[in-house]
Amino acid sequence: MTVHILVRSSGKRGWMLRCDLCEHRFDAAVAGRREAVAFARTNGWIVGEATWCPMCAATHTIRRTA
Ligand SMILES: [Zn+2]
Repeated sequence: MTVHILVRSSGKRGWMLRCDLCEHRFDAAVAGRREAVAFARTNGWIVGEATWCPMCAATHTIRRTA
C-alpha cells in the first residue's frame, strides 16, 4: 500500500508536516523524513493515510468510539 505523507523539507534543516483537516503545522528539526514522522507521532500526530494534528486526531477518535 502506498502511503502518501504530507511531509516535506521545510527549506532549512528539518521537515514540516501539515494537518489535512486544519492549518496546523509541525516542524521537526531532524535529518530524515522517517524521523520526522516518528517525532510527530510522539507529539500526538497521526501520520499515515492521513496527516492529522493532535486536536483533529482527538476529534476523530471521539467520533470513532462514540
Ligand atoms: Zn488539525
